[in-house]
Amino acid sequence: MDSKKLIYAGKAKDVYETENPDEVIVAFRDDITAGDGEKKDNLQGKGHCNSLISTKLFEILEENGIATQCIELKKSCHMRAKKLEMIPLEVIARNIATGSLLKRFPFEENQKLDPPIIQMDYKNDEYHDPMLNEEITIALGIASQEDLDEIKKITLKINKILSEFLKEKGILLVDFKLEFGKDKDGNIVLGDEISPDTCRYWDINTLQTLDKDSFRQGQDNVMDIYEQVCGMIVDEKDLKKWKIT
Ligand code: UDP
Repeated sequence: MDSKKLIYAGKAKDVYETENPDEVIVAFRDDITAGDGEKKDNLQGKGHCNSLISTKLFEILEENGIATQCIELKKSCHMRAKKLEMIPLEVIARNIATGSLLKRFPFEENQKLDPPIIQMDYKNDEYHDPMLNEEITIALGIASQEDLDEIKKITLKINKILSEFLKEKGILLVDFKLEFGKDKDGNIVLGDEISPDTCRYWDINTLQTLDKDSFRQGQDNVMDIYEQVCGMIVDEKDLKKWKIT
């Protein structure tokens, strides 16, 4: 790999420095975690699927005018990307009420959320990613009001683009988490990943889970689901090009 030093190791991805100081390699691993890291496993092929899905969705966003970190899929599991200064926010967009939202607030299960809800959590393991409001975010120096306004605007645009794209593929985009960073010129750019690890995808007809909820629920066909959703989202030619032999 054209990489040097490991600069960041997350729960399912690593980030490596490259020869170019403005670029990094994002390496998707097979590790999978849930419940604040309490439930763990390693699923062979998951990194491959997530790298293909993320690259495809970043490509769709770029085509629609959204700045993303992604430059190209260099090889299976390895995305060449712009180096960003990451903002420690988990920006969650919700179209349907499910998951932790139901535990915290009296929404009805599967209640349609129109307009969508944007929620921001503090990405901080020590504090278990607490939900933020704008005043706390600004007082902590995490982001400015201007940054927050822009992040919200971009997230709503991403929600529209991805919901429409995925609908055509037979997938309902229920909710998802994004992470943003700033590039060397101070522009806000979408980073991280958009994969079944970070989104809720439901089959548009059967409402069957096509994402990490299968792992959270302890199903034994998690990899089958990731491969199925990869086949639904990624073009045939790319599936063939990057096929693991
Ligand atoms: N999510 C994520 N990382 C997190 C928390 C949430 O990728 O640390 C995603 C999750 O997969 C879902 C959406 O954000 O698509 C909303 O998650 P929720 O707040 O409902 O939390 P959960 O029920 O997944 O704990």
